[in-house]
Amino acid sequence: MLNVPSQAFPAPGSQQRVASQGRSKVPLKQGRSLMDWIRLTRSGKDLTGQKGRLIDVTEDELKTHNKKDDCWICIRGLVYNVSPYMEYHPGGEDELMRAAGADGTDLFNEVHRWVNYESMLKECLVGRMATKPAAPKGMYPKSQVTDTLPREDPSSPSYDWFQTESSVTIVIYTKRKNINLASVMVDLQDDSLRAEVVINDHSYLIHIELSHEVQENFSVRVIENVGKVDVILQKRENIPWKCLGQPLEKHDSFIPKKDAGLYYRKCQLISKEDVTHDTRLFCLMLPPSTHLQVPVGHHVYLKLSVTGAEIVKPYTPVSESLLSDFKEPVLPPNKYIYFLIKIYPDGLFTPELDRLQIGDFVSVSSPEGNFKLSRLQEVEDLFLLAAGTGFTPMVNVLNYSLTHMSSLRKVKLMFFNKTEDDIIWRCQLEKLAFKDKRFDIEFVLSAPSSEWNGKRGHVSPALLSEFLQRSLENSRVFLCICGPTPFTDEGIRLLHDLNFDTEEIHGFTA
Ligand code: FAD
Ligand code: NAP
Repeated sequence: MLNVPSQAFPAPGSQQRVASQGRSKVPLKQGRSLMDWIRLTRSGKDLTGQKGRLIDVTEDELKTHNKKDDCWICIRGLVYNVSPYMEYHPGGEDELMRAAGADGTDLFNEVHRWVNYESMLKECLVGRMATKPAAPKGMYPKSQVTDTLPREDPSSPSYDWFQTESSVTIVIYTKRKNINLASVMVDLQDDSLRAEVVINDHSYLIHIELSHEVQENFSVRVIENVGKVDVILQKRENIPWKCLGQPLEKHDSFIPKKDAGLYYRKCQLISKEDVTHDTRLFCLMLPPSTHLQVPVGHHVYLKLSVTGAEIVKPYTPVSESLLSDFKEPVLPPNKYIYFLIKIYPDGLFTPELDRLQIGDFVSVSSPEGNFKLSRLQEVEDLFLLAAGTGFTPMVNVLNYSLTHMSSLRKVKLMFFNKTEDDIIWRCQLEKLAFKDKRFDIEFVLSAPSSEWNGKRGHVSPALLSEFLQRSLENSRVFLCICGPTPFTDEGIRLLHDLNFDTEEIHGFTA
């Protein structure tokens, strides 16, 4: 059974209540939690008012359903009657009403791209759009279709293929230079091949049912200076192929990443290790026929089925350990993905995750995020401010800075926690600071025991101005901050007060 409290969900301080980019969530009435919604959708009640029929909805009809008690919204070509959902929507009724009687796809992509609305709203499905809905005045400047770059555009990526006796190579010409192995995600399932290349904020997709069987293992090669990606498949039988295969959904499309949808693959839980009293290091194994690398500072979504509904939450992969403890990897690189995850006994997702047995599966999405490594170029002083599990994006930033940033003079982490027992990887951090003189660590506790001699309190002007000392006057600085949303917001505000520029600060949010 799920241990989900029935009232005031999410909790007043829950990150589900306060979303990124200042989009506040509203308090929900009692009995209006996600679990209450799941129960209602299971009750057999006719939530669409269509008595189970699915209809083709015209643009004119859609426009007429624009009131709170009669509100239809089109998302990616499907129309939902969201009136029964109004009171359960964590963003509030007014936000849903912004798309009443209209195409809410762009608005939805802006704020909920990763929410599994198909599962959440399946009982509210009225039907599909009979014709492509027009964009309502002023609200959605671009439709999904017109946003797709014209395929005849010579700057659009393209692909080709060739074969030898034993292999087939698919060549993707991205026509851009800033491509690397982390820009490419390849999944081979049975004989269906999906290769996605992220090119700035667009996604190019090859999606094909291959004409012949191939072996599970394939390789991916990126020739960075010409922006060429090779996916090299091994034939199961050494016979010539007449064609590559049949195109599948969105094959050869080049569309904004936000419209591309998230692709999930099932990963197996390999190990789970206690790190603190409530935080664990989870190791997941990617399927053998997947190529996926998560860029530094990016996150993925984990998806589990909770009493039949799919629940999705974002998590930031970390390296297996910090550099000081780094051993020769026992497991081959890029096949395993690690997460430091805090288990909230009353949370919706993490108790379910914690209940998984070794060998069970979790779905892992392709990476998302807006952190750009190029912002660290030439940086001399790197300051990291983390609270609680807000430490997770700092792990790879820290490792990257110490191994790849030749300009780096100093990297300092100020790590805020409630008590000493809550500090993740304390020993590793202290060892690293001892071994590498470029790294300093400062712990700050908000609820320390009487024996604690270190810094106390919350993020404040006094703590920050003492901590943010440059190694050289006028050195080039960069600051990263991550933690509960109010912590991150307050930290960024204080950094501005201390005269740091927006370009010098990265706040990690969803
Ligand atoms: P929730 O259901 O969201 O509950 C959170 C808190 O609210 C808990 O304290 C819970 O006890 C309380 N609560 C819930 N319901 C009630 C109620 N009715 N009454 C009172 N209290 C209640 N987390 C990590 O651990 N590691 C990461 O690497 C990580 N990366 C992230 C990356 C991004 C980009 C973002 C945005 C978040 C990340 N998070 C990470 C947080 C993570 O996504 C989840 O929010 C977190 O795991 C909590 O999920 P949950 O469903 O278990 O808890
Ligand atoms: P926590 O243990 O509850 O808090 C960590 C520290 O932050 C504590 O000292 C706490 O003080 C302090 N704090 C909390 N709210 C504050 C505020 N409003 N102002 C100043 N200090 C505050 O943290 P947690 O449970 O691990 O949660 C970590 C958060 O980080 C989650 O919300 C998660 O979603 C977020 N996160 C985001 C990303 C990302 O966006 N990329 C990645 C990972 C984690 P108190 O003792 O007073 O509570």
